[in-house]
Amino acid sequence: MQDSFRHKGLRKQLVESIQKKGIVDTRVLNALEVVPRHLFMDSSFLEFAYQDKPFPIGSGQTISQPYTVAFQSMLLDVKKGQKVMEIGTGSGYQACVLAVMGARVYSIERQRRLFMKTKAFLETLSWKVNLFLGDGNIGLPKFAPFDRILITAAAPTIPETLINQLKPGGIMVIPYGEGSEQVMLKMIKQADGNMVDEKHGIFRFVPLLCDLGND
Ligand code: SAH
Repeated sequence: MQDSFRHKGLRKQLVESIQKKGIVDTRVLNALEVVPRHLFMDSSFLEFAYQDKPFPIGSGQTISQPYTVAFQSMLLDVKKGQKVMEIGTGSGYQACVLAVMGARVYSIERQRRLFMKTKAFLETLSWKVNLFLGDGNIGLPKFAPFDRILITAAAPTIPETLINQLKPGGIMVIPYGEGSEQVMLKMIKQADGNMVDEKHGIFRFVPLLCDLGND
């Protein structure tokens, strides 16, 4: 599959619509314009790739809505060269957006089948993203500490283990809540280790599960 002029045109329109919805961070908008979202989806659903909607990617999971990817990336405020841990690799789309923004990405997925599929696919792209199969609640102690942590599934609790893997001055973005809706939290770690939270509206994510999935 190729990235044609048509795809690029549709992508530009999508980015413009996301900008109109209030995303002003040009690094985020640029990354969305660069990453060919249609390649992360099943080829038979091409016409959906550049609508601002979430979409199923198999194994009962979804690729997040482009606006949500943009919003989380904006809150994360990644600087070039920073180490970012993502929980919930899914299709790998968000991970590539962060890579284009200059992050060194470490992303964890719990579903083996999805992990294998995404790993094989990302090897065909030019962005380097480090992928791990595992339970994101545990994080990656071997690679900690991180400048940024992004959770792309609904967290019923705030995992303390992950906060411990965040640098002082670091930011964690997490959709927090148990029901069908979550509040988007931007948590900033202070020099003394305390967290200061900001609330940024309501979103809907698939749940962050607690074990290693064999599904
Ligand atoms: N960021 C993804 C979308 C994420 S959907 C993208 O850009 O496409 C949420 C993902 O989190 C799913 O793939 C789900 O399998 C994964 N997930 C759920 N619980 C998890 C856990 N405990 N550890 C790691 N991944 C988890």
